[in-house]
Amino acid sequence: MSNRIYSIAVDGPSGAGKSTLAKAIAAERNILYVDTGAIYRTIGYYVFRCGIDPHDSFRVINVLPEIHVDMVYSEDGLQHMLLNGSDVTDVIRLPEISMYASAVSAIPEVRAFLLDMQRDLARRRSVIMDGRDIGTVVLPDADVKIYLTADVGKRARRRLNELIERGTPRRYEEVLQEMIQRDWDDTHREIAPLREAEDAIRVDTSDLNFEESKAALLDVIRRRLGEE
Ligand code: C5P
Repeated sequence: MSNRIYSIAVDGPSGAGKSTLAKAIAAERNILYVDTGAIYRTIGYYVFRCGIDPHDSFRVINVLPEIHVDMVYSEDGLQHMLLNGSDVTDVIRLPEISMYASAVSAIPEVRAFLLDMQRDLARRRSVIMDGRDIGTVVLPDADVKIYLTADVGKRARRRLNELIERGTPRRYEEVLQEMIQRDWDDTHREIAPLREAEDAIRVDTSDLNFEESKAALLDVIRRRLGEE
């Protein structure tokens, strides 16, 4: 395995398996996993807590200076999000926060606020970073760029299973509708829309299980890094 610092960008719609796979790959290759969605969720959660409409850019921008976001890693390598010193790792996963995260992430000032933080992490260590604009905006020079996708129905089903496991089941149709809405919002916003980088390798996990998806990604990474 190489000792140089390298970066792997993983972009794609929600529910394609980005975070689960990126986490597993980080553990396997002993590199840092950065979940950028969690950073947007943390901002979304703050806005939610303030009772602000997340589409009201003026009010969202106004509260940005009050927000201090930190990422700390526990011994098992899990990324914890701290919002003004409090651990919000679990609460930012609530389904209502997804929509807040998506809405605030369309505000250019919010993206600019978070850009340096994300770049800085990749400067210091080898990382696998997942999000929507990592290969296109945050790390345009990433050594490996992967666009991870899957059929929207399959993604909704996976998200539903996650919610069931967490003890917060929902109706499939509702989860599907939200997923379609979020896909639309993420791909149609003016700033940093979700799109495939020209030099990204597309991996479709619709018909792959976790192990198969992981093997496919590791294969792409090794080839791109010239390890085989
Ligand atoms: O990946 P996750 O579902 O946790 O992301 C929450 C929301 O944050 C996404 O719907 C997307 O709008 C936004 N996001 C983004 N850019 C990223 C990561 C997430 O705009 N790099």
